[in-house]
Amino acid sequence: MFELLKKVLAPIGPSGLEGPVAEVIREEIKDYVDTIEVDALGNLIATKLGKAENPRKVMLSAHMDHIGYIVTGVEKEGFLRVTNVGGIGMNNSYNRHVVFAGGVNGVVVAQPVAGQPALKDLFVDIGAADREDALKMVSLGDVCVYAGECFRLGEHRVAAPAMDDRCACALLVKLLQTVGDTQDTIIAVFSVQEEVGCRGAKVASFAKEPDIGIALDVTGWGDTPGVTQPEIKLGEGIGVKVMDRASISNPELREALMAAGEKAGVKTQREVLPYGGTDAGAMQTSRAGIPVCTLSVPCRYVHSACEVIDMRDMDAGLKLLQAYFA
Ligand SMILES: [Zn+2]
Repeated sequence: MFELLKKVLAPIGPSGLEGPVAEVIREEIKDYVDTIEVDALGNLIATKLGKAENPRKVMLSAHMDHIGYIVTGVEKEGFLRVTNVGGIGMNNSYNRHVVFAGGVNGVVVAQPVAGQPALKDLFVDIGAADREDALKMVSLGDVCVYAGECFRLGEHRVAAPAMDDRCACALLVKLLQTVGDTQDTIIAVFSVQEEVGCRGAKVASFAKEPDIGIALDVTGWGDTPGVTQPEIKLGEGIGVKVMDRASISNPELREALMAAGEKAGVKTQREVLPYGGTDAGAMQTSRAGIPVCTLSVPCRYVHSACEVIDMRDMDAGLKLLQAYFA
């Protein structure tokens, strides 16, 4: 799973520009599904037909996009002004190495101001001599993301900038590769634009009309000094969501997923997240409504340049899903 995760983490894919991620995923899944399509927004949708006479349609959604900084202006000295695409926080923005899709490197810096700097006080230094020079390297509207290879942390953990939500993309790829024949039809959606409001999952669930929706995403952590909420620990199993700010999980579906985890002999954690949301929020209110739940990979330092997960939780998620579809 680590090698697959590395591959899926590698492409630069901020919200709205997920194409390179979709290409990598398509190569990995094409031999394991019945159909693959890309819709108008860029969602990569793979369908694996169920063997039951009247198969249930289960949509699994993992988002490909990643938060970033979009260029809003260029100073005459060549520094870029930016704003956020998705949940960029100031604390994670100081002196960060960022990279554009074309390969241009930059450093995000906050200029000194009275009080706390805001997004408008950030600039990106790309080493340009002046505005003209900068505009040879980037254009208005280009987006950069946190740079950085993924690296191992201790025996079980891995850190990378785009772990949210490429780890779940890798999990979904691995499921398609290993699940074999199923009674249910699996609609695997590698969704776009989650970080700016779950737009990909919204249109995909409308188009595909699933009977059940399961989002695969990361969640927060409560196991580092001074952090106790949510009650989630890395390495203690896959999270099964009860609620976040965008969705309330269907109780029967939630318990069915917990039971599948038990059947698979893996650890699960009930997850109540007092902030945030996932593609489940978009699926839940699609058409006449869809029962949803989210399986969550516990992740430290979400939306930073070093998002950390535990590979044992990935394994638990995979085995739970295999058991659910068995
Ligand atoms: Zn996410």
